[in-house]
Amino acid sequence: MTKLGDEKACREHMEDLRWGGNPVCPFCGKDKPYKLKDGKTYRCKNRDCRKDFTVTVGTVFENCKIPLSTWIAATYVLSAHKKGISSHQLARDCGITQKTAWFVLQRLRHIMCNPDPEPLTNTVEVDETYVGGTFANMNRKRRKEWQEKGEDNKVAVMGLLERDGIAKLTVIGQKSFKDMVRGSVDKNAILVTDTHLAYQGLAYEYAEHLTINHSEGQYRDGLAYTNSVEGFFSCLKRSIFGIYHSVSPKHLHRYCAETAYRYNTRKITDKDRVTQTLQNTSGRLKYKTLIEKL
Ligand SMILES: [Zn+2]
Repeated sequence: MTKLGDEKACREHMEDLRWGGNPVCPFCGKDKPYKLKDGKTYRCKNRDCRKDFTVTVGTVFENCKIPLSTWIAATYVLSAHKKGISSHQLARDCGITQKTAWFVLQRLRHIMCNPDPEPLTNTVEVDETYVGGTFANMNRKRRKEWQEKGEDNKVAVMGLLERDGIAKLTVIGQKSFKDMVRGSVDKNAILVTDTHLAYQGLAYEYAEHLTINHSEGQYRDGLAYTNSVEGFFSCLKRSIFGIYHSVSPKHLHRYCAETAYRYNTRKITDKDRVTQTLQNTSGRLKYKTLIEKL
């Protein structure tokens, strides 16, 4: 943070992370652009392109009025704090409005989503949990909206965790449990689940399928336990109950991504984690998309 004290240093740092000293036009891919006098804008040398760009064009930081130093500080705080940070706290820490802080955090969570994860292998624990605010904590208008829909506001989340490896949290939507496992776990893996009927039959497709019967008070039997994935769920729940208080179902997948990201980068230092997050800023998330109704 001290090293990146001013806006110029932040910009140079981002340019270095994104381009490694060789700026490339985000529109056509041509390198060696002209640098304009303002010190931050580049102009493409390609005759058919000639577009101007800065280091934030094509990243989640694009078209946002807040300084890069604030983005970097927010990235640090969100990725280093074990339970995350609320938009209210971030607003106070960075001197921005709560609405801006909320948007910054959602964009950062968006880049923490891994769009193309490797399949899990070796021994994989799979379990499901329910996350969601209770009606009692909602304001009257929202409670009424949910009650009119006639459904529970709890959302099912599936956790898949490779022992000593990486983990995934996915909101359970229309797909069956089995299809979700098939989509994330390599066929050579040993699966460990509870005795939920929805997992039955997977033994024929996987190297092995161990089950543990929680309803009979059985929690550990040799390799058959799901304690690691339950610990992983508690990271999500601690951040939701302790920091965010409630998360609407529409945004839950981003909080899942944040928890998984922190878990999966648990063995690297805070500084490396920030660098990795900043290197991963391509892809935009517009405010309009965020606030759209389900
Ligand atoms: Zn170009």
